[in-house]
Formats: sequence, structure tokens, C-alpha cells
Amino acid sequence: MYADVIIDISHEKLDHVFTYHIPEKLECAVAPGVCVKIPFGRGDTGRTGYVTEIRETCDYDPAKVKDILGVIKSAVPAESHLMALAYWIKKNFGGTMHQALRTVLPVKVKTEEKVKRTVYLNVDRETAMDLLALYNRKHYRARVRLIAALLEEPSIPYEVILQKLNITAQTMRPLIEDGTIKVVSEKAYRNPTILAGEKQEGVTLNAEQQAVADGIFASFLEGDPKPALIKGVTGSGKTEVYMEIIARAAAMGKPSIMLIPEIALTYQTVMRFYKRFGDRVSILHSRLSKGERYDQYLRAKNGEIDVMIGPRSALFTPFTELGFIIIDEEHETTYKSETVPKYDAIPTAIERCRMLGGMTVLGSATPSLPSYYHAMQGDYTLYTLQNRATGASMAKVSVVSMAQEMQAGNRSVLSRELHDKIALRLERREQVMLFMNRRGIAGVISCRSCGEVIKCPHCDISMSQHNDGRMHCHYCGHTEVMATQCPVCGSTKIGAFKAGTQKIELLVQKEFPKARILRMDFDTTRGKDGHAKILSAFANQDADILLGTQMIVKGHDFPNVTLVGVLAADMSLNVPDYTAAERTFALLTQAAGRAGRARSDGEAVIQTYHPDHYAVVTAAAQDYEAFYAEEIGYRKSLQFPPVVHLLTVYVFGTDRSRVEKGALKLAGVLEAIGGLRYIGPAAPNMEKIKDNYQNVLYIKDAKYDTLVDIKDRMEAVVRLERTFDNLTVTFGFE
Ligand code: ADP
Ligand code: ZN
Ligand code: ZN
Repeated sequence: MYADVIIDISHEKLDHVFTYHIPEKLECAVAPGVCVKIPFGRGDTGRTGYVTEIRETCDYDPAKVKDILGVIKSAVPAESHLMALAYWIKKNFGGTMHQALRTVLPVKVKTEEKVKRTVYLNVDRETAMDLLALYNRKHYRARVRLIAALLEEPSIPYEVILQKLNITAQTMRPLIEDGTIKVVSEKAYRNPTILAGEKQEGVTLNAEQQAVADGIFASFLEGDPKPALIKGVTGSGKTEVYMEIIARAAAMGKPSIMLIPEIALTYQTVMRFYKRFGDRVSILHSRLSKGERYDQYLRAKNGEIDVMIGPRSALFTPFTELGFIIIDEEHETTYKSETVPKYDAIPTAIERCRMLGGMTVLGSATPSLPSYYHAMQGDYTLYTLQNRATGASMAKVSVVSMAQEMQAGNRSVLSRELHDKIALRLERREQVMLFMNRRGIAGVISCRSCGEVIKCPHCDISMSQHNDGRMHCHYCGHTEVMATQCPVCGSTKIGAFKAGTQKIELLVQKEFPKARILRMDFDTTRGKDGHAKILSAFANQDADILLGTQMIVKGHDFPNVTLVGVLAADMSLNVPDYTAAERTFALLTQAAGRAGRARSDGEAVIQTYHPDHYAVVTAAAQDYEAFYAEEIGYRKSLQFPPVVHLLTVYVFGTDRSRVEKGALKLAGVLEAIGGLRYIGPAAPNMEKIKDNYQNVLYIKDAKYDTLVDIKDRMEAVVRLERTFDNLTVTFGFE
């Protein structure tokens, strides 16, 4: 047996993997993630490395492959756990070990560190004197200088030691490892966060919240590995429950990870955590520089924080102990990586907790179908919060049929009911939020004579009309002058049909000339903190109406918002995807949940062409169970996840016929196995993206492991066969 060993994991290019032979006596002990001692470099000096993979064969002359010297058992550093997790991710979601490692390991950046480090004597004076004598006898001059200096001055800046005392990091390393000295990185972290004032105690939990926190904490103490799912209506105080269990775990010295969709990582959310945990909070977000990000990981590793808050990637915070991994808004699709490795944060969190003895807690007002299904099956423990913590009742929701509006002669984007309700709010100086279903509905430029839709020449995606008079592709950024003639029938009756956020802003402004409107969409939030600026302006009541895509659904409490309007509830129902109803239900329910969070007269109006669709009806009734019952029936009858597992295999390439050939070859793998249910290969909806063609295969099976096995076989074929040169094959698991 052979092991691939990585030696320098702090290197940005994690591709320095070396193969070693595993001596028979070590075969049981060596596994991915394990820390080993190996001969390396000139003179074969013993170095420490991490096993990334075990293999039966070796690409080199076996006679030249060196033996692993031993397994280092004592310290199990964070990196070991993360390595093992990387291996698990690779195995369960596909991709290479290298890709998995890059996802999981905090990579040190070459930019010079701004960390201010101080070296402390970490043993009592007597021990230090003894060591000094010992080092003197052994003529360890550098060590003698260091210890002597530290006996005089028990803490010395790191730079001073390097430059003034002329002592190298290599000299210090063994002394740090055996605990003689310690290096503490102090405050000079590139700390990206704004420190709040005084630390405050949390609110007193109400009985419902207390029961949930107690229940979860009790199973945590028992070491029950079962994840918990908190289903709590919007504003039911889930965040307070999270903070409570995080604080209790922290009191036991166990830090937690709090995952929040990036979009919800607003100033308000962050402040709440600061007020509770002071500077023992750290935050990761996409605007951090690599250096800042690395510093936050360093703080985590040094045990300086109780909770790391961040999007999906915060999952890999290098803690060596773990309290909770909390995944808020767990239904959000951002918890699934769209790049290889296409891991899902929920099972990955559960695996990480299994490794470190932590507990996964999922929370949502609208749990994803898979999560609720797991709870129903008994795989997760279900907790519910039925009431809003502030005592406010849920918004009153009405559904308006836009077809009927049309029949009644109303051609406005606003139904009469929504119009009147907005007018009333403006009069009362209350605020309104208007949701559009998604960016780009602005778009679709079609011919009114023949129905042809203009698509991007590089992608198979509809182009959208923008204010600059050009058509834009939202996938690749390609732009063209606005079409004046239909490319198919030559008709000049061509244009954007449905209005986008910009257009709607103009239309709403026309109906309410005095209203102050803020628009929040992809275009207005592009700049640094674009998002946060708009949200705080709205929170400060600098505007009456906030108009936007779903990005305004969460992360903000606007107590003065008493009306929410959803303009095109149908858009997401038309997406050709089996989760369309689920996403629509979640979006509508969450949107309605924004109204009247602090008071009882909140109202929501849903405008739709499908007023009888169960996703709309159940969202209006805010009845999750009714929606679930309907939806799970549909999934059962059509055999979709979560009732079965689904493996999606994509084949990409620039040459269409090669892509097709590759996909056929993979279908051949399925045929050879036999007895499988699969669809394809076929060109999906958007066949061409950024000049790449794609083909797709869907395989369904009740057992996840069957799909993992299929993935393994396909990966082997892709590695070996020439057909796949210049093709990319990726796997998605559901
Ligand atoms: P969720 O995360 O479920 O949407 P939050 O935790 O954000 O809910 O709580 C909603 C609002 O209720 C917040 O303003 C919060 O400060 C307040 N709140 C939560 N729990 C309590 C409580 N026990 N007592 C008073 N106010 C509370
Ligand atoms: Zn036409
Ligand atoms: Zn394009």
C-alpha cells in the first residue's frame, strides 16, 4: 500500500503531493488526514506531512519509493481533521483530492502578514532556568539567547526576536511545539469587523425558545449525533436560540460555527452577535482579502473565538473542538457549492460534527423538502417555534389574480388592491417592500409576431434589455445593440415584454410621484457594500418603498414595514426544475414574513397568474405542513429527491460532437452496470454556456452509495479514455 503525502499545506498550490510506501506495521494506522513522519529532501531529514490519499499502486519505481517513518499521534491538528474531511468530500461529491483540499484548507497567502505577534515564556522560571542550563551544556546557542532574553523580559515582540536576537522561526518551532514558549497573535489582526460597544446579555428566552434551546443542549451533552431541525416562523426568535446554545457550548470551551447565507450577513445580524459575544466573534465574507481571511482562520486556530459566522466556506474553520454547526436559512440553495467539489453544506456539516463531537442544528421558517423529510423519517430531531418572539401576529396575506386584473381592464403592474394598500401606507408614513421574483425578468426580448426570443450567441440564455439601450447576457456579460428586427420573421414588433426592476421602479414612481423609492438589484448593489448602504438607508426611513429582487428577503428587520407586495409570484413556478414549487413557496412565505415583524397589522399581497397553485395557496395561508404534504406526494409519485437520490452528470466541452460522444460513453457505463433508472444523455435547457456545450445525464436511486459508486466508475473511465481529453465531467448529488 502507498500513501500520498502533502508536506507543506500552508502553500497556496496544494499540489506538492509525494508518494510513500506504507510499511506493513503502519497499514492500520495510516489513513487520509493522518499526520505522518517521512524522510524528505537532501539527507532525508524527517519532516511532518499529511496523508491525502491511500492507493494500492504507485506510479513510480517501487524500489525508489521511501517508507513512511511513523505516525504522529500526539497532536491532532485542525489540518488533520480538515484533510480527512476533504477526503470525505471528494468521495461523496466527486472531484479530485486537490480540489477538495483547496476548498477545505485555509491557505496562507504570500502577502506579508500584518499580524503582530508576541513571544511569551510558557513555563515557570524554575523550569526555564533548568532548560537554560541544559541548552548551555548542549551548546544550543540560539535557544540559550532566546530563553535568557525571555527570563529577563517574559514577553517580546516576534520581530524583535527575529531581528534583534537573531533567532530564526526554525529555532522557535520545537520550543513552541513542546510548550516552552508560546506565540500569541495579538489584536493587530487585519480585523475586518467593527467592534461594538459594550457586551450585552441576551434577551430572556420565552418558554418556546427555552424549550428548544434546552432540548438541543441536552442532546448535545449526551453526545447524541442526531442533527436538530428548528422550524420556526419568521421572527420566532431562532437567532436568539442559536446564540444561547453557542454561548453554553462556549462556556464549556467549545467554539461553534454559524452559517448564514452571505446575503443575510448584514450589519444588523453581525451586531447582534457582537453584542452577545464581543470580540470572540469572527466573520468571514466574500469581501475579505485573502490575508484578512487567513487571519480569521488563525484566530480560530489559536482558540481566540467562540463563534465563526460566515457563508458556506466558514464550515471549514480550523477548530480542533466543536460545539455546534448551525445552518440558518438551511433551505437556501447557496449551501450547495456550484463549483467542484459540488458539496452540500448540510451533510458536510454533519460529517464534520461526527469527526469532532459537535452537533449540527438546521433552522428555517421553510425547511427544505429533504430536511423536513429527514425529520419525518427520524433522522433529525424536529423542534418548532410557532409564534413570533415579539408577540406580533403573522401578516395577513391576500392573493390577487393578475388575469382578473387584466380582464377588469387594469394593465398596470400593480393590482388595484396592492395600489390602494400602498397609497394607504404612504399616507400613514409606513414603509412598503415590493419583491420581484428575480433579476432579468426585465429581460426577455421577444418578437410579438412569431414569439422568437433573442438569445446570447455564447450561452443559450435569453438576453435582457437594459437602460443603456443594449441587450445584456447575465451569464457571460456579452452585450449587443438592441435588436430592431426579429432575426426569424423580420417583424419590427420586437421588444422586452415583461418589466424588470428598473422598469417597475419607473412605473411605480409614475403611480406614486411623491413616494421615495429605493431599488435594490444586481445592478444597484455591485459596488462595495452597495447592498448594506441601500438597506441602511431604508432602515433609516430615507425611503418609503424598497423595490428589489429576492435579495431583500432576509437579514433585515424593518419594524416600520407594514406591507409587502410580491409582483410576479409566477416567475419561479415557470423555471424548468423539479424544485420550482418548493422555491416559490419558500420565497413567498419568507417575503410575507417581512411584513409587520414588530407589530400586528402587517399585510402581504401576492400577485400571480396562478392563484390556485398549491405553492401560492399554502404560502398565503403560511401553512408549511399543507405545502409539504402536497409536495412530498408529488415527489413520491414522480420519484424525485428527497424520496430518491439523484446524480446529475454534466459533460462540458467546446466541441459539440465530442461532448455528445463523451456523454454516450458515460451512458454506456450505466448500461454496463444495468438495472439503473436514468435519463439522458441530453442537452439541457441551456446547452451552451460561455461557448461551452454541455450534455447531462440524470440517474436516480434509492441508495446514495449506489450513486457514489457510479460516480467512481465514471471518474475512472474519464481518467483512462481518450474520448475525455478536453472534456470536463462534473457530478451533482441530491
Ligand atoms: P428569527 O431568527 O426566527 O427570524 P429573531 O431571532 O431574529 O428571529 O427574532 C425576531 C425579533 O424578535 C428580533 O428583533 C429579536 O430581537 C426579538 N426577540 C427574539 N427573542 C426574543 C425574546 N425572547 N424576547 C424579546 N424579543 C425577542
Ligand atoms: Zn419574429
Ligand atoms: Zn452569454
